[in-house]
Amino acid sequence: MNESFGFDIAVVGGGIVGLASAYKITLAHPDISIAVLEKEDRVAAHQTGRNSGVIHSGLYYQPGSNKAKTCAEGRKELLTFAKRHRIPYDICGKVVVATHERERANLEKILQNGLENEIEGLEEIGPDRIKEIEPACEGIAAIWVPSTGIIDFAKVAEKLADLVEKKNKGNRVLTSHKVTGFDRHDFYTEVRTDQGSIDAKYVVNCAGLQCDRVARLDNVEPDMRIVPFRGDYYELTEEARGKVKGLIYPVPDPALPFLGVHFTRMIAGGVECGPNAVFSFKREGYGKTDFSLSDTLDALSYPGLWRMFLKYWKSGLGEYARAFSRKLFLRQLQRLVPSLADSDIKPCRAGVRAQALERNGKLIDDFRIERQANSIHVLNAPSPAATASLAIGDYVNKMATKYFKL
Ligand SMILES: Cc1cc2nc3c(=O)[nH]c(=O)nc-3n(C[C@H](O)[C@H](O)[C@H](O)COP(=O)(O)OP(=O)(O)OC[C@H]3O[C@@H](n4cnc5c(N)ncnc54)[C@H](O)[C@@H]3O)c2cc1C
Repeated sequence: MNESFGFDIAVVGGGIVGLASAYKITLAHPDISIAVLEKEDRVAAHQTGRNSGVIHSGLYYQPGSNKAKTCAEGRKELLTFAKRHRIPYDICGKVVVATHERERANLEKILQNGLENEIEGLEEIGPDRIKEIEPACEGIAAIWVPSTGIIDFAKVAEKLADLVEKKNKGNRVLTSHKVTGFDRHDFYTEVRTDQGSIDAKYVVNCAGLQCDRVARLDNVEPDMRIVPFRGDYYELTEEARGKVKGLIYPVPDPALPFLGVHFTRMIAGGVECGPNAVFSFKREGYGKTDFSLSDTLDALSYPGLWRMFLKYWKSGLGEYARAFSRKLFLRQLQRLVPSLADSDIKPCRAGVRAQALERNGKLIDDFRIERQANSIHVLNAPSPAATASLAIGDYVNKMATKYFKL
């Protein structure tokens, strides 16, 4: 790569959001040259390649929010995209199951929310119908969501990377290029990387777990901080896989932005159980005891983190206990599938979610995308951002078209 080569736009981050943004900009503006800069040696190395692989229907999101709108649009577009590019997916549907009377009211709220979001085919079902759909699952009531599906988001990201380079011969997806700083000049920005500098007129920051740091490198002080929440997964052994047909979710705690430990059939085969949500002492740390001094000091110096700990200490401690105790993790799974035995599960992998936190300790629920003079910063793109990625790409393209005057 000739490092002195200039681009119109540099996109930081080769996850699904950065790649979908580059793809949508290149479709709308075929003459604009784009460099996607990814620090790892492949695209989709972090959240995009380590998620549950669920195509969300949009059931939970506040009507009218960016999450609700982009999830609905993005889901439909994702299926068209997958069909066209022969990426396997399966609309297998899911059940959200109440196992206790105290969960009924929340289940009803979720149903009403889903109806308001116009999710097609929603059904309130009872124990008999639950058994028809998921014979091993015991619940007192549930919502059947037939439009939920499964896909491998890393495959979607790889295809997007391929198309970004094919649609314009001037575009590049440069892996192993870590962005380390920006030097602003009158008519362009010198984007410093660990492989030399690249000139670009505009910058789009889609750095996921590092997005607040990349924003600060660009002299933007965002009013939030990324908090990493690790999610551990177990998988069902081959003998136990028959206990789960599709996707089984609990009724989530409405105070938290996570959906609770669930069962997910994976598109490549197998059934995974998870993820929990544990504050991680390393932003890209996938081991239970991974620790980064700089990440920890950075997090602890933010008042929002202490306020969050105070607010959620009880559920946080519960998550820690389950992270280190297989028995407690299993007990949570058994609430949905009581016949599950210890010998039915084995530990598999982990992912880390990038969740934006405000100074007052509030976890930011909706997607957040901000603009600064010559840059756009995607500052909160947690789940369902993989499902919604193509619609988020449209949103970023519209901002770029307007503010970069493309
Ligand atoms: C455990 C888990 C389960 C989830 N389940 C689902 C699900 O089932 N369905 C769904 O729709 N969503 C799900 N999500 C959410 C979804 O995965 C994310 O919202 C989405 O992948 C975000 O994409 P991204 O491109 O913003 O981030 P990422 O995929 O993390 O990409 C950001 C990229 O930026 C790169 N980067 C960072 N800093 C730099 C730098 N300085 N220079 C160059 N590159 C840099 C990183 O290496 C990374 O590749 C889940 C997430 C997790 C973690």
